[in-house]
Amino acid sequence: LDGTLPSSIGGNVKVVVRVRAFLPREIERGAECLVEMDPVTNRTTLKPPNGYDPANVRAHSRKVIENKSFTFDKSFWSHNPADPRYATQEDIYDCLGEEFLDHNFEGYHTCIFAYGQTGSGKSYTMMGTPENPGLIPRTCEDLFQRIAVASQESPNVTYHVRVSYFEVYNEHVRDLLVPVVPGQPPYYLKIRESPTEGPYVKDLTEVPVRSLDEILRYMRMGDANRTTASTKMNDTSSRSHAVFTIMLKQIHHDLETDETTERSSRIRLVDLAGSERAKATEATGQRLREGSNINKSLTTLGRVIAALADPKRSRHGHRDKVVPYRDSILTWLLKDSLGGNSKTAMIACISPSDYEETLSTLRYADQAK
Ligand code: ADP
Repeated sequence: LDGTLPSSIGGNVKVVVRVRAFLPREIERGAECLVEMDPVTNRTTLKPPNGYDPANVRAHSRKVIENKSFTFDKSFWSHNPADPRYATQEDIYDCLGEEFLDHNFEGYHTCIFAYGQTGSGKSYTMMGTPENPGLIPRTCEDLFQRIAVASQESPNVTYHVRVSYFEVYNEHVRDLLVPVVPGQPPYYLKIRESPTEGPYVKDLTEVPVRSLDEILRYMRMGDANRTTASTKMNDTSSRSHAVFTIMLKQIHHDLETDETTERSSRIRLVDLAGSERAKATEATGQRLREGSNINKSLTTLGRVIAALADPKRSRHGHRDKVVPYRDSILTWLLKDSLGGNSKTAMIACISPSDYEETLSTLRYADQAK
């Protein structure tokens, strides 16, 4: 991996794909790897499993079978660690995280989404494990390192970091930094719109943080509070979109004029709900409603990113008029971090041996490009 990302046509929107290793249960059932990636052309190819009968495939995916190769800004092969192409957590950070943090220090917002079915590696990519930390802890570490260096070099700039962590669940917003009280119904926050700041979550907890340890403690606290519900497909399937936000404020004090100037930027790191369709999990009632709301946010997000990546739209101005931010809570709340001078990345996480879900994820990522 050369560590650089070719810029896509839209400039500020990147779409990348990452395939994970087999899980023990997949090895046990002798699963075959259906995904091929060419790290030079960044082409990802999905082949049907052995004995695959297209007659059994839903009509909408049937026509895509002939065209199952997709090109993204980057294809991350994280399937087999022995393979020289293997993309580590560090490779993902070097490719996306660093560039985005540069942008934040220049005073702009960024937003990174992990999309994919439950079990495809979204949390692993965003959070990771203590041994193999993901994008969020690496971003936090790099952020505080840069602040330490910059504070030494230019003592007239001060840095203030705050974090918030919320989830969008069933088109409602819940504060993940407020502990869940057992036996109490979940408390949802209201969304307001400020004429200057745009949409925001009223009364959302925003805590100042001064060190990596402190920020990671809040990250873990929020993780523990995240809503999970069991479905027929998975015992704990993630039904909510988790939005981790780091707010960076740089205050520059001009010693000659005694004036201060401020630069504020937001770093949004979003672990999206599982993209598997409600149908596949045989969901009913409450579950089904959750499913359609999750789909609403995911579908709208796909359309928003597609609109932003479309070079015709960016050239003609009036972008906000055609970008359907308002169609879901998630895109409405992230409006400030999508479009304009913000940079957006979508990481499509895929399983190596699930033909239908992987095809659906690749198609989603492809239309977002
Ligand atoms: P999701 O958040 O999409 O539901 P997870 O991140 O929890 O999926 O991943 C499912 C399982 O696969 C976890 O056990 C995780 O540790 C493992 N996993 C995911 N991606 C990788 C990877 N790139 N390398 C090794 N293990 C992975």
